[in-house]
Amino acid sequence: MKYLPNRVLFEEKSLEYPLGQRLYKKFNDMKIPTDILKNNRVTAIPKETPQMEYGEGKATLVIRVRKNKKFESCKPSAHYQLPLISGCTGKCEYCYLNTRFGKKPYTTIYVNVDEILNTAEKYMEERKPEITYYEMSATSDPIPFERYTKILGKVIEFMGDKEYGRLRFVTKFDDVDDLLDINHNGHTTIRFSINTFKVINEYEHATVGLNERLIAAKKVMDKGYPTGFIIGPVIIYENWKNDYDDMLITLKESLSNEYKEEIHFEVISHRYTNAAKNRILQIFPNSTLPMDEERRVFKYGQFGYGKYVYDKEILNEIREYFNRSIKSYFPNSIIDYII
Ligand code: SF4
Repeated sequence: MKYLPNRVLFEEKSLEYPLGQRLYKKFNDMKIPTDILKNNRVTAIPKETPQMEYGEGKATLVIRVRKNKKFESCKPSAHYQLPLISGCTGKCEYCYLNTRFGKKPYTTIYVNVDEILNTAEKYMEERKPEITYYEMSATSDPIPFERYTKILGKVIEFMGDKEYGRLRFVTKFDDVDDLLDINHNGHTTIRFSINTFKVINEYEHATVGLNERLIAAKKVMDKGYPTGFIIGPVIIYENWKNDYDDMLITLKESLSNEYKEEIHFEVISHRYTNAAKNRILQIFPNSTLPMDEERRVFKYGQFGYGKYVYDKEILNEIREYFNRSIKSYFPNSIIDYII
């Protein structure tokens, strides 16, 4: 799937960097409207309705220089977020970016990549001989931008060279060809987020289908990338087990059955906050996402705000089902967690 922005807005300073200059030229050559931000503020996104603001925001790229030198922590999946891209072209109804970026659903790309990687190296030095893990998709799915930026390839190569650094990211896209011949040295783990055909069709708009994701997964596995699968959000509906069975069978077949490597699975049941529900219903007023509080339990999370999760009985059923079915289809797999 090829992402084409409607507009690309540049912070003036970004044009002092080679990546900023390259992107400016590229989008102008493609006749995509570009502009220089006045006072660094993003004001050009049409916002007559919440839906328009969301759709146009998703179609907007903002090219900036990152000034903040500190990285945020990213527990439990990694030690730090790697802040190079924030935002995503996908339009998944349940996505937490909907609340995280609220009225700013555009994607920001930082062009001072070398400076950011220098900071990453400093963190690595401080923690060595322990390995430091960096997460590239804490606030993004970086794949759709790679055809323009080549940032991901650069970071993969950088980490491939580092004894004490590792990279992780997760995607719902398939545009991985540019990554296949990079010298990753096994230091980058690519996880594919997968779900049933029904969940993908109904809720994961502007992403690619299950089969495309699995073709991409096979390609990166064949190139030796450590690869994993995030099954989520697990959504309970009539016949959910049959559909998740179909998904696992499709996965097994696409990896050509004889695949013997250890595959890691993470399983995440659907949860939502009050703020997320309100935002989702603003953008997708006809959403059929199951968000009925009476059928959920309210639970305080580690960051202090509460979420609605499935009740204990359903969570136990989810655990029991995925433990059994993943092990039966993929006996060599490792289930990192089911939550
Ligand atoms: Fe959010 Fe991932 Fe969907 Fe992008 S692909 S909208 S990051 S859930």
